[in-house]
Amino acid sequence: MENCDLHTHSTASDGTLTPEQLVTEACRAGITTLALTDHDTTAGLKQAGAVAGKLDLRFIPGIEISTTWQGRNFHIVGLNIDTECPSLQSIIAEIGIIRERRAIEIGRSLDSYGIYHAHEGTLAIAGGATITRSHFARFLINEGYARNSRDAFKRFLVRNRPGDVRVTWPDLACSIKCIKDAGGTSVIAHPFSYNLTGSWMRKLLLEFKASGGDGIEVICGSSTPAEVRLASGFAKKYGLAGSTGSDFHGDNHIWCKLGAQRNLPPDITPVWDTW
Ligand code: AMP
Ligand code: MN
Ligand code: MN
Ligand code: MN
Repeated sequence: MENCDLHTHSTASDGTLTPEQLVTEACRAGITTLALTDHDTTAGLKQAGAVAGKLDLRFIPGIEISTTWQGRNFHIVGLNIDTECPSLQSIIAEIGIIRERRAIEIGRSLDSYGIYHAHEGTLAIAGGATITRSHFARFLINEGYARNSRDAFKRFLVRNRPGDVRVTWPDLACSIKCIKDAGGTSVIAHPFSYNLTGSWMRKLLLEFKASGGDGIEVICGSSTPAEVRLASGFAKKYGLAGSTGSDFHGDNHIWCKLGAQRNLPPDITPVWDTW
């Protein structure tokens, strides 16, 4: 029986397992097809692929790209990508600069709130990984400002909190194009995490499809049966394939375990059909 997980993170971004550990754990958890999709980086893919090659596991190189559309931020997962593609690497470099600048701004912002050295402290925690708000959350926990990641986000890192710094990521269409240039399949990640109204969801799906987007996560780590039904309906209505991914970041996020992904509904075309 196939067991696919097409959305996971490693220490190359904000996951807690190294790419090697992730692949090993995934195999142990019974996953037969695994994609590593770190935020805006392909840095962990080579190591992960090398380990997968020694195990009985099909490895899919992937990425989760931060994009902005209509002033809102969305995550687009790129699957089965050619890591070396110049167009993909150029969007990665562009986002890397935005992330570095944002990290400095978050540090300044926390500094003026009386939380000092957050930028340096967070850089040390990230240890060369793509710098994300999750790393700031870890800094805030370590320094005793928050109890856990959820608490750190709620109190410091979301809208209108002391570490809130807004940025504009590359445009949705641009991220889809870069994934396509890299021979990959683009998928809307965790569609219900954006708090969209029905009409904005419709606009997003139409625009995504018109821009060459391929699929939607019908099943993600925390999706309820009602969400699976709704996402399946979107996939059929807008002619999108379906994907399944846990969004695993490490065992500290208990709501998305490795190897626990449900199968796609039988009437949904899987994204891996064309690979
Ligand atoms: P960034 O891309 O740097 O803005 O960071 C986004 C990452 O932060 C997401 O991929 C999640 O891993 C994490 N995240 C976002 N919101 C929360 C939250 N409320 N609680 C815990 N982690 C979160
Ligand atoms: Mn993350
Ligand atoms: Mn995401
Ligand atoms: Mn993710």
